[in-house]
Amino acid sequence: MDNTVRSQLFRKIIDNDLCSKCGTCIGVCPVNAICYDSNKDIPIISPNAECINCNRCYASCPGQGFEYRKEKKDREVLVGSPLLFAETYAKDETIRKNGTSGGSVTALLAYLLDLRIIDKAVVLSLGESDRPNINILSSSNEISQSHQQSKYYSAPLNLAIKDILSSEEKWAVVGLPCHIQGINKAIKTIPSLKDRIVIKLGLFCGYTVSKEAPLALRRYLGSDLNSRLLGWRKGEYPGYVTFEHNHDIRKMLIYDAYCIMNVFYANERCFYCIDGTNQFADLSFGDIHTFGNKSNVTIVYSEKGKELLQDAEKYIHVEVFDKTDKRYSCVDGIIQAKRIKGLYNIRLKRGGVPINDICFSDIKESLSPKGRMFLWIQRTLTNVVRKKYILEILEKKPKLQMIIGRYIYTYPSRVLALRGLRYIRSKLRK
Ligand SMILES: Cc1cc2nc3c(=O)[nH]c(=O)nc-3n(C[C@H](O)[C@H](O)[C@H](O)COP(=O)(O)OP(=O)(O)OC[C@H]3O[C@@H](n4cnc5c(N)ncnc54)[C@H](O)[C@@H]3O)c2cc1C
Ligand code: SF4
Ligand code: SF4
Ligand code: SF4
Repeated sequence: MDNTVRSQLFRKIIDNDLCSKCGTCIGVCPVNAICYDSNKDIPIISPNAECINCNRCYASCPGQGFEYRKEKKDREVLVGSPLLFAETYAKDETIRKNGTSGGSVTALLAYLLDLRIIDKAVVLSLGESDRPNINILSSSNEISQSHQQSKYYSAPLNLAIKDILSSEEKWAVVGLPCHIQGINKAIKTIPSLKDRIVIKLGLFCGYTVSKEAPLALRRYLGSDLNSRLLGWRKGEYPGYVTFEHNHDIRKMLIYDAYCIMNVFYANERCFYCIDGTNQFADLSFGDIHTFGNKSNVTIVYSEKGKELLQDAEKYIHVEVFDKTDKRYSCVDGIIQAKRIKGLYNIRLKRGGVPINDICFSDIKESLSPKGRMFLWIQRTLTNVVRKKYILEILEKKPKLQMIIGRYIYTYPSRVLALRGLRYIRSKLRK
């Protein structure tokens, strides 16, 4: 039996569906003993290199959980000690227009590159065959529309740790919570990374999806299966998942797409994830869906992030708000929903869980027995429809797949709404 650390990583994390596909293990490996299989969308054992048991990969892997309590030292562990909340957007009209939300992430990267506070930034663009491209920017002139916008497939962005380690330059990284957790763990394992990564810009995150998701959306839209994915959030806010084939454009509202993407094709690891707002980044950015405009809801998590937001005033509009402001409900909703769902799912998972140092008992009182029942039903239904043979049947009936996905994704609000309607109807009849 192979007892290397590498095989332990594969046994405990990858084969146990706990891999978030962040790429950290590959980025930190000094001998390239792990590589990424883009077709399978998962790390694989490199056939050409032996593991030297340095333990870097295992120690840096966010898939095995994260020590929230230890990292935050008893401050607001579950929320992540935010210093400020703000609504922000890029002052450059093109960056704001091309952005997912307010273009703040890209505006800050432009600022950091223009003032040479960083030499390089790691970003993601749309690649061919429904796969992402990891790009390294050296100047704000290189920023293009394709670097903006959220891409909902997982991306092994932390492969870039290899580039960061092989240079003496200053870097900014942009990533989802699992990328940023991976970076933070890697810094502990390889301290020289700390001086090179000068800022960590985080994105809020609900889910990422497997590469089967765009195919399912094409089937639902009746688009050619070889059509090109032009964007996940293209066009007017909140944006449309958009495909093109021989000038035939098919698109669907992102909120509708979530019903198929997040129920049937969300990466399994995302069900056990509890960090919705990227608590370990310096600054973190999400959407203000509620207001329907192109703005970011922004959380400042470190003094460094606070300084950056103040210094970049020529590039970014900032309006600070506090917990009494109605915009805060957007942040709170994301924190609560993800945390409760994640911890409850961890509790339900048999045979191996990510070892966070907070657990369901920490939030037990915030979930009523009824709420717990709803979560259990939603999770059980999700597990059932994700079973291979059921999924294969549903994939042949895309409209039915959408109806079921919508029901489960919005559960229990649809059930309650139907019950409410029935109740009103019965009252009217009387
Ligand atoms: C998978 C995913 C899930 C999200 N879920 C939520 C959510 O539930 N609630 C919420 O409020 N906000 C969520 N967001 C964040 C939101 O969609 C915006 O990304 C955020 O508001 C920043 O917008 P912007 O206009 O400032 O960024 P832009 O200027 O458009 O720049 C986008 C940046 O994101 C990077 N990026 C794009 N896709 C990925 C990816 N898959 N992995 C890592 N980096 C990527 C790009 O490299 C670019 O730097 C999610 C984002 C992603 C990628
Ligand atoms: S979660 Fe990231 S570091 Fe862990 S195994 Fe997966 S790709 Fe590697
Ligand atoms: S990082 Fe170290 S322990 Fe992990 S696979 Fe590479 S050599 Fe082995
Ligand atoms: S939900 Fe969590 S594990 Fe999944 S992609 Fe987002 S941050 Fe990573």
